[in-house]
Amino acid sequence: MTEPILAVEGVGRKFGGFVALEGVTTAFLPGRVTSIIGPNGAGKSTFFNILSGVIEPSSGSIRFKGRDLTGTRQHAFVHLGIARSYQITTIFPELSAHENVRVAAQAGRSRYNIWTNRDRFGELSDRADAALDAVGLASKRWESARLLAHGQQRALEIAIALVSDPEVLLLDEPTAGMGPEETKEMVALLEKLAAQRTILLVEHKMKMILGLSDRILVLHHGRLIADGTPQDIQTDPEVRRVYLGQNDGYA
Ligand code: ADP
Ligand code: MG
Repeated sequence: MTEPILAVEGVGRKFGGFVALEGVTTAFLPGRVTSIIGPNGAGKSTFFNILSGVIEPSSGSIRFKGRDLTGTRQHAFVHLGIARSYQITTIFPELSAHENVRVAAQAGRSRYNIWTNRDRFGELSDRADAALDAVGLASKRWESARLLAHGQQRALEIAIALVSDPEVLLLDEPTAGMGPEETKEMVALLEKLAAQRTILLVEHKMKMILGLSDRILVLHHGRLIADGTPQDIQTDPEVRRVYLGQNDGYA
């Protein structure tokens, strides 16, 4: 039997007295695409923040390949092979695409190798090029990030996450703000990336999710209310009631 690459047990998160996430237990198998859906405020980004070490859970634990990561810093998550992109753009607009990725490559490793020399610069630069190539931005690498089209900026964020060569890639709404054409390109990119790693996705575009996912988790008011194949989720009455029924993108 395949062991999960990432697993959480009873994770919850409070902000002050507000419970954003509660009692989530689940595990992710390597090489699969899992989407996390749910209405706004359901706790999807909070769950992602916990899975990627950005915030600590208030309760419960998280394991990567059987190793307990609860309470360790995000840097350790990245180093072990868990990387993410954000719902909000985090690129430096005045830097080139290449510089954005190279800076991320350097930041991701600096705690483990403080010696920066010319060889190392070359290595970082090569890795940045490889990540840009992987997302189809090789020809744009010297372009200022702010001059890239919206879809290209989102692809750049994925390149930034990819430069650490993560085994688990978490993407928070990678098609946010995209029209149908850009969305199609992003789906093609995600399919390509999924061949080589475990992908966790937060998305709202149902057609895309149903086509791309091996498995779908549904959060509602911070609780996991469903977990199954796209087929299971589409026919789950509770999911239809709280989410699918009110989602225009579904059909
Ligand atoms: P989603 O991504 O599903 O839209 P979030 O995980 O961003 O939902 O948020 C879940 C709930 O937790 C929301 O009500 C949100 O306002 C609250 N929340 C998220 N982050 C914080 C925070 N840092 N401080 C206070 N409340 C937060
Ligand atoms: Mg969110």
